[in-house]
Amino acid sequence: MKLRNIAIIAHVDHGKTTLVDKLLAQSGSFRENQRQEERAMDSNDLEKERGITILAKATSVEWKGVRVNIVDTPGHADFGGEVERILNMVDGAVILVDASEGPMPQTKFVLGKALKVGLKPIVAINKIDRPDERHEEVLNEIFDLFANLDATDEQLDFPVLYGSGRGGWMATTPDGSREDGLEPLFDLILKHVPEPDTAGKDEPFKMIGTILEANPFLGRLITGRIQSGSIKPNQAVKVLHGDGTILETGRISKILAFRGLERTPLEYAEAGDIVAIAGLQKGTVADTFCDPAVSEPLVAQPIDPPTVTMS
Ligand code: GDP
Repeated sequence: MKLRNIAIIAHVDHGKTTLVDKLLAQSGSFRENQRQEERAMDSNDLEKERGITILAKATSVEWKGVRVNIVDTPGHADFGGEVERILNMVDGAVILVDASEGPMPQTKFVLGKALKVGLKPIVAINKIDRPDERHEEVLNEIFDLFANLDATDEQLDFPVLYGSGRGGWMATTPDGSREDGLEPLFDLILKHVPEPDTAGKDEPFKMIGTILEANPFLGRLITGRIQSGSIKPNQAVKVLHGDGTILETGRISKILAFRGLERTPLEYAEAGDIVAIAGLQKGTVADTFCDPAVSEPLVAQPIDPPTVTMS
């Protein structure tokens, strides 16, 4: 199946959770009973819980036969390294900006890193239904922000959509058709975001650990993008530190893919896809999970050039 890997970047409260919910709903990624549970969940606590479940990790939606993996980006400077690793997993980004508030510090922080890894973001000006919306100024502010962050000409030429995540629509003009729902956003993602590189799928397996979780049933779960090769359950895997030392060798007990709000076990996954693997006891974020024959760890693309100290 064809794939796209994207990150969603937004300042807190600009509508990320709401938009992802609508993307899931409109792509039909909810199962029927899930949809009913969704409706039943009204309390704020449950909303919060659901928001965290979706956005702390990743989700995926299917659109016109293409699976779109969507990962969240923590916006805090405290998570700088994590943001870089997450952005290294994706080939595109949607920058969601409140049509009244405009770009905020968190938008700037993560966008700066996204531009440095070479992503060409899509801009979505959200909450256009707000009475105090000011989309024209906000678009100018976003353009200035890109320019101040040293965006390339290609990055500055970003596509823009306007809409309301809560209203379930995005359009190419601020007064555009609401009838299309989120189709313009889905279509733009398919068109603007490059397909992941699967050229290395016949090479040995390599993946950088990017998100670590403790799963009550499966134990340590590590999410990453498969850089090269392929994996199957029970396959032998070695974990390398950044300096090349071997942390452990073990076997993959389970491969999980993100499907809507759930995760589905996979019998096979290959280069380009973002998956979670269980079965390793020590491997963590920034380690390289690889075929036992591999001896060179992967190095996450450095975002800031290393400082050279002169003596
Ligand atoms: P997040 O922090 O970025 O995940 O933001 P949420 O999705 O939780 O939304 C924050 C607030 O903005 C909530 O109260 C939403 O109901 C509201 N919101 C989300 N989308 C829209 C929209 O399109 N228009 C308006 N007016 N409010 C919205």
